[in-house]
Amino acid sequence: MGSCWHQRHATPDQRPAGGWPEDAEVTALCNRRIRPESGELAWLWPTCPECDVAAHVLAGAPMVGSRRPTMPNSLGA
Ligand SMILES: [Zn+2]
Repeated sequence: MGSCWHQRHATPDQRPAGGWPEDAEVTALCNRRIRPESGELAWLWPTCPECDVAAHVLAGAPMVGSRRPTMPNSLGA
C-alpha cells in the first residue's frame, strides 16, 4: 500500500505539542487523508502541487500595486 513516492502535503492542522500520534491522520489542503510525517527526510520530498497552490491561497495573495510610481515634482510656478 501507499504511494510509490512521498510527497509533502500541507495541512492547516496544528501539530500537537509532542508530535503526532503514531496513527494520526490529517486532512491535507488537497483533501487527501495523509499521515503526518515528522521524519528527518520529510523536507526533502517534493511538495504536492495541489497543496502548494492551496497554501498560497491560504497565505493570501500579496498585495501588489499599492506603491505609486514616484512622480517628479514639476509643478513649481
Ligand atoms: Zn497534497
